[in-house]
Amino acid sequence: MGTSPQDVSVGFIGLGIMGEAMAGHLQAAGHPLHVSTRTKAKADRLLAKGANWHDGPGKLAAASDVVITMVGYPSDVEEVYLGKDGLVPHAKAGAVLIDMTTSSPNLAVRIAAEGAKRGVAVLDAPVSGGDVGAREARLSIMVGGDAAAFERVRTIFGTMGKTIMHQGGPGAGQHTKMANQIVIASTIVGVCEGLAYAKKTGLDPAKVLENIGGGAAGGFQLNVLGARMLKGDFGPGFYVHHFIKDLGIALDEAERHQIPLPGLAQAKGLFEKLAANGGRELGTQGLFTLYAG
Ligand code: NAP
Repeated sequence: MGTSPQDVSVGFIGLGIMGEAMAGHLQAAGHPLHVSTRTKAKADRLLAKGANWHDGPGKLAAASDVVITMVGYPSDVEEVYLGKDGLVPHAKAGAVLIDMTTSSPNLAVRIAAEGAKRGVAVLDAPVSGGDVGAREARLSIMVGGDAAAFERVRTIFGTMGKTIMHQGGPGAGQHTKMANQIVIASTIVGVCEGLAYAKKTGLDPAKVLENIGGGAAGGFQLNVLGARMLKGDFGPGFYVHHFIKDLGIALDEAERHQIPLPGLAQAKGLFEKLAANGGRELGTQGLFTLYAG
């Protein structure tokens, strides 16, 4: 693999809310960009700037030194990596494959083992920072897998993120992301309840948000998503159905490790209620609609 961006071709699969922005940064940095996604129209803007289209993961892998995936669910990750037309069977010798989807730690371990059988390094590298973090290349990136492979692609991570850490072997990135989602789950419930309380006690909630957002409660969930809640902007951002997927993985892992997490279980129940009320495609700040009225 070369050292300047022009010498390292990057394949990208999954050009949704997060993936399109992330792939755009790699393209802007000078990497020859190869793309493939389920809905071709989602690649239009990157293709117009010179990206190369491939029909499916196999052909994309054969043209790329590094492949990044940012798809939806663990079942998508499994298909894209291990399917007949998957990345692992078609990767170039010495390639590094990086899954940045939020997915299951066990699946990450399985894919890394399949890659190792073919001499292909597979890293799990989920992210945090939301749609804003992806657009501004300020993501936190949590990496599991082979440490030498991590060092080889560190500058690629640096093109998309700011806080980039190797957390351990295969699956460690996904476990770190689960810790992140466990923190967020109860935090966003707290944001909804604090703002609902401010509203119902007759305060000006926007003034309250400005005041408490500068104190110890401040952070992305309160300052960014709390502001969207008060504006009635419930679009994604981060889809409710993806968050429920993450909370399910986290609860399964917590049960497997016999860790009681009542706050996580309660938050998952609230998000399931929101989804049942028609909120699957809202952003997670849509939880505030349960507190309206
Ligand atoms: P999204 O907008 O739904 O994007 C996912 C993209 O992946 C879609 O374009 C989808 O194609 C494509 N895709 C899914 N399965 C595929 C498959 N089997 N083969 C090829 N392409 C496939 O979701 P997102 O918000 O970018 O999130 C992506 C991942 O990052 C999720 O795991 C999510 O939990 C995680 N995440 C999201 C955020 C956030 O704030 N949005 C933050 C951190 C992590 P179609 O368009 O055809 O469906």
